[in-house]
Amino acid sequence: MTVSNTTINWDAIETVLLDMDGTLLDLHFDNHFWHEHLPLHWSRHRGIELEQAREELLPRIRSHEGTLNWYCLDFWSRELGLNIIEIKQEIRDLIRIRHDTERFLEFLRANDKHVILVTNAHQDLIDMKFEVTQIGRFFDHVFCSHTFGFPKEEQGFWIRLHEARPFNREQAILFDDNLSVLQSARDYGIAHLVSIIQPDSSQPPREITGFAAIDRFEEVMPPA
Ligand SMILES: [Mg+2]
Repeated sequence: MTVSNTTINWDAIETVLLDMDGTLLDLHFDNHFWHEHLPLHWSRHRGIELEQAREELLPRIRSHEGTLNWYCLDFWSRELGLNIIEIKQEIRDLIRIRHDTERFLEFLRANDKHVILVTNAHQDLIDMKFEVTQIGRFFDHVFCSHTFGFPKEEQGFWIRLHEARPFNREQAILFDDNLSVLQSARDYGIAHLVSIIQPDSSQPPREITGFAAIDRFEEVMPPA
């Protein structure tokens, strides 16, 4: 299912909530980090083969999926005895903006939308990504789930967000590649929800059911 520009009535949208990784930015950096780069460090750290390092590490990482710990670099630094943010810095050249993200952000600014970044990413990672991509200038507010104490997958996040910046749920739209997050936002009552078909440019496009989904933002922007 794909939304076209006729299905988003921008006049009826006041608040635009945007996820960062996999939505505005290519998820390839993050996937490469957890699946390739970190196992490499872990194998050196433990003096074991890369494949064994992956086998040890990946189930451990996955067991925290969807929790705040999963997204918390301090947690993983403590848990693994490695400086995660420093290791991420080594591959910062892989941080990329997706397709037409900048054009979309410019469109939102030009149309006076209230633009809020809502992310589960750790603050150090937000800082690194803003430094590399310079997208920080487009947001009215940036909210990180770690400051609220709940990931976006939980209702607590949306309750805290609403306390921090009250918004009309009927006139709000969320773009997020994570379907659990979209479901959580739907449960909270956010009226408009859009997913991303291919969050990681190195992975095949996904079949999305239950939510509208786009590949490029131009699909939801009025023709220039
Ligand atoms: Mg994401």
